[in-house]
Amino acid sequence: MAQPGTESNPLRAAIIGSGPAAFYAAEHLFKQVGLNVAIDMFDRLPTPYGLVRGGVAPDHQKIKTVTKAYAQIAGNPHFRFYGNVEFGRHLKLADLREHYHQILYATGAQTDRRMGIPGEDLRGSHPATEFVAWYNGHPDYRDLQFDLSQERAAVVGVGNVAIDVARILCRTPEELKATDIADYALDALSQSKIKEVYLLGRRGPAQAAFTNPEIKEVGEMQGADVFTLPGEVDLDDLSQAAVASSADRSLVKKVEILQGYAASKPSGKSRKLVIRFLVSPVELIGDEQGGVAKMRLVRNVLVASETGSLNAKATDQSEELPVGLVFRSVGYRGVPLPEVPFNDRWGVILNEKGRVMDPDTKQPRVGEYTSGWIKRGPSGVIGTNKPDSVETVNCMLEDLAKGAVLQPVQPEAECVADLVRARQPQYLTFADWLKLDALELERGKAVGRPRLKFTRAEEMLAALGK
Ligand code: NAP
Repeated sequence: MAQPGTESNPLRAAIIGSGPAAFYAAEHLFKQVGLNVAIDMFDRLPTPYGLVRGGVAPDHQKIKTVTKAYAQIAGNPHFRFYGNVEFGRHLKLADLREHYHQILYATGAQTDRRMGIPGEDLRGSHPATEFVAWYNGHPDYRDLQFDLSQERAAVVGVGNVAIDVARILCRTPEELKATDIADYALDALSQSKIKEVYLLGRRGPAQAAFTNPEIKEVGEMQGADVFTLPGEVDLDDLSQAAVASSADRSLVKKVEILQGYAASKPSGKSRKLVIRFLVSPVELIGDEQGGVAKMRLVRNVLVASETGSLNAKATDQSEELPVGLVFRSVGYRGVPLPEVPFNDRWGVILNEKGRVMDPDTKQPRVGEYTSGWIKRGPSGVIGTNKPDSVETVNCMLEDLAKGAVLQPVQPEAECVADLVRARQPQYLTFADWLKLDALELERGKAVGRPRLKFTRAEEMLAALGK
């Protein structure tokens, strides 16, 4: 048989996951001149686009237009999408090895990192990742309940996810209605009694992970004033030196914006967002019913590590912050895939530049690759996944040139289609997704919203007449 990648024997690649990293990998494979490639993309959810659909904040509609580029990639005649098909459940690694020359895992980071403090699991304390998935209509999280009858909530962490969560808690029903937030979340948040939201950073304003547009945006919310505390946004000597020597000029601006909020005056808006710095939760304290009642915070100072980074060091000063709802937003974490080597410490697939590594032989596993958050950890913005996937695909191409690919016994495209039909008859194609997409937009238009999402797999299948 001819080399894989030729017209008579196209390179058959399976991509697991359908978020940005998955689509950028597909794009780079399709771009190769003279390479005949056929790509099957699988997602355990019926719908594609990963965190662009299930993670990006609903009030950031513009960011979601990136899916237009993904739909274009999916329009390639050698691309197939299999939604509602789970790796490890409907298709095992052995099945993929029988049908593909190369397999790429791009499953993202599907869970949260833990804080590791007493009381973390009290009722009313949630991973931010779950709240995000809930308000974005993720089928697995749509039935969760959050007690929005509380008046005070804390969001731990000062990254972009934390600030997304804080914004969604502070938005007015009118602001939320203009987004594609899930309908049940719009109803619940419209009844919310939350008055105060605390964003808690363990280090100082110069080390805050959120970006300047996000920190400016909160100052423009219709229903909430934003405050910082003067003593917490004044830079210590180490931070001052770090900002002064940083090549990143946006850092000066970030500190200025945050210092500006220290001079905010209440304007009569019904909610307030307070961004705190140099505090770490050390315990969540429950009430008699087992729900969160308050949080013990320790005050920190910054100390330089050996590498020069500034770390938080606890002092002996502490305070109690009464809050009935807590969202832990201290980072996402990857989940191992069945039979795929995993680095448990880092929460990523064991890999070198995207080649999956065998932990015993320390050699790459032939034909297996990874890209995106499950390769490098949960960092960067959507676009960061493009160079990341290009790096992985370049490894795939190098290995292909060397003949280091899997030897599928059933490389014909129809064989895998038959297998999927047998294992998961309720799979969705990309054409199905395009129909759902049009229906969601139509349903949204009817109620004056940009989109009304389907949030249950059954609803989606019924809408498609499946
Ligand atoms: P992140 O940017 O890594 O932020 C995590 C935050 O949690 C940091 O403030 C970190 O503080 C803090 N933290 C970690 N462990 C902690 C602990 N034990 N106690 C207290 N605080 C702790 O992660 P993320 O917000 O989950 O975002 C993930 C990625 O998605 C990021 O790259 C982000 O930029 C991206 N994203 C982008 C957008 C956007 O572009 N609009 C929106 C959402 C997400 P330290 O710095 O002190 O570790």
